[in-house]
Amino acid sequence: MFELTGSTSASEPRAGGCQCGDILYEVTGIPDDPHLCSCEHCTLLSGGPAMTWVGFRKEALTWTGPGGRPVWYASWPTLHRGFCPRCGSHLVSLAEDSEMIMVTTFSLKEQGGLEPVGHSYRQAAVPWMSVTLAPCPPCP
Ligand SMILES: [Zn+2]
Ligand SMILES: [Zn+2]
Repeated sequence: MFELTGSTSASEPRAGGCQCGDILYEVTGIPDDPHLCSCEHCTLLSGGPAMTWVGFRKEALTWTGPGGRPVWYASWPTLHRGFCPRCGSHLVSLAEDSEMIMVTTFSLKEQGGLEPVGHSYRQAAVPWMSVTLAPCPPCP
């Protein structure tokens, strides 16, 4: 667990959502393990060199938008990723055995205090990606 200090305190809710505004959410609590991931799923699904993730406790996330909940896609049998069915924004990922839900950092309105502290699958990242962060254990 990483306890982070930022402009937003842990108890203040953070608002997030998709690009079209149908799927919105609110999370509370201490953000956990903000990191980049360059696994083959994150790069393909994002179309970029990495996705940026931050974890919160599952029960700390509430869906608040007019579209309700995201649609789920299992990129791995035990890992489900949630998208907006209308605009396709990738919002969350949920591993079956985890107490945490991972949120795409940039689906949050404010990213203060959520700078990545690690990079999963850094060895798989494109060489031109010059971000240098400590390696961390892979997400599945
Ligand atoms: Zn949307
Ligand atoms: Zn990944």
